[in-house]
Amino acid sequence: TVRVRFCPSPTGNPHVGLVRTALFNWAFARHHGGTLVLRIEDTDAARDSEESYEQLLDSLRWLGLDWDEGPEVGGAHAPYRQSQRMDIYRDVADKLLAAGHAYHCYCTTEELEVRRDAARAAGRPSGYDGHCRDLTPEQKAAYETEGRTSIVRFRMPDEPITFTDLVRGELTFTPENVPDYGIVRANGAPLYTLVNPVDDALMEITHVLRGEDLLSSTPRQIALYQALMGLGVAHFVPQFGHLPYVMGEGNKKLSKRDPQASLNLYRERGFLPDGLLNYLSLLGWSFSADQDVFSRAEMVGAFEITDVNANPARFDLKKAEAINADHIRQLDVKTFMEACAPWLRAPYANWAPEDFDQAAFEAIAPYAQTRVTVLSDITANVDFLFLAEPVEDEASWAKAMKGDPAGLLTTARAKLADADWSSAESLKNAVLAAGEEHGLKLGKAQAPVRVAVTGRTVGLPLFESLEILGKERTLLRIDATLA
Ligand code: GLU
Repeated sequence: TVRVRFCPSPTGNPHVGLVRTALFNWAFARHHGGTLVLRIEDTDAARDSEESYEQLLDSLRWLGLDWDEGPEVGGAHAPYRQSQRMDIYRDVADKLLAAGHAYHCYCTTEELEVRRDAARAAGRPSGYDGHCRDLTPEQKAAYETEGRTSIVRFRMPDEPITFTDLVRGELTFTPENVPDYGIVRANGAPLYTLVNPVDDALMEITHVLRGEDLLSSTPRQIALYQALMGLGVAHFVPQFGHLPYVMGEGNKKLSKRDPQASLNLYRERGFLPDGLLNYLSLLGWSFSADQDVFSRAEMVGAFEITDVNANPARFDLKKAEAINADHIRQLDVKTFMEACAPWLRAPYANWAPEDFDQAAFEAIAPYAQTRVTVLSDITANVDFLFLAEPVEDEASWAKAMKGDPAGLLTTARAKLADADWSSAESLKNAVLAAGEEHGLKLGKAQAPVRVAVTGRTVGLPLFESLEILGKERTLLRIDATLA
């Protein structure tokens, strides 16, 4: 049975790379009918915050990435926050020390630096040189009398480590490239290098799927696993799969700090969780050669970790938006309207919430649904219905009101006043006829009408919009423009 984990550290806002990792673990678990464990790696008190923790959980819930074990749902391996598991790590570190898999290292940072520089200068490997590997009790006692503190270091085996990465195939790491590494700080605080594989072992994780940036820790973790198996703490070594880097603008790695990387940005702009997840799944994976848009269930049905491509994936905002737009089109109109609600609660200072007219929104929603890319686009498309006076965008105004629109508007107003307001077609014919009188094609004739009534040069189909706004308000707005 498959057991995977998503184990974020609550440091700052969730970013798209993190979500991609969560998604691939989730899809893998769901595809195989396995278990997704959510574990919070909050052992770094200086960087972790409760606020980030809350945000993480809230983001996962918003995305609909549910977990089977973890905070709030519990499970057989609770607690799932590492800050509550410190006794476990201390105990395992003691066992590793007692069995000789780990040792106390008394080297100071300065000493390490001097030796590293010397090794570099001599062209030797510059990682930890094993100085404290085999100290005698006397040497240790002498260091301690000097008042030195020690970290705990894991003793790496002397043989190369080979494993088959589920994404990258067989990989080998030689001992020179994977020196002994710290697992407990001098102050007794256990490090990621220890707590992450210890918890993976205790939680019986079968597949570790995570970003390529963590590839270098895998040989260390495999060696640690082997030691833990000898101690009865672990029972098997999991399989590993490293997801490709995500590249942002200028072909640079998308960094957490990139504004484009912030999950909140997508949420605030009104991406649908399904649209965003669909897009993020394409960062390293594909559903089929000729289909970019698919549902979450389709993804789960098709997702195989071995299909993930090792090459860096390129983040493409335009493509993300296009995919999201497709997901919006597929909603039933009622769901679409509900999804728009957050962007229709008084988005501007001059928007009075009591002016929101549900019937008008219902009438306009089907037109809007085929045109918005992200849900926040709804505001600019329908605000003319709910504002006492339309938004007056000066640039639009100047563009549409070139020449002398007053004559055209006067004629159009007269013809619209006589038109049949239960038919968009009749409103169109009114403006068409007005245009003809002024030697203007429909496109040119309707531009000033649109700006006078909606304040904008682009928007939803104009005559349907006018019909929904109603005769009285339409004519008043044209009058106001002419005044
Ligand atoms: N807490 C680690 C991180 O957020 C998890 C790494 C892993 O998946 O092993 O980077």
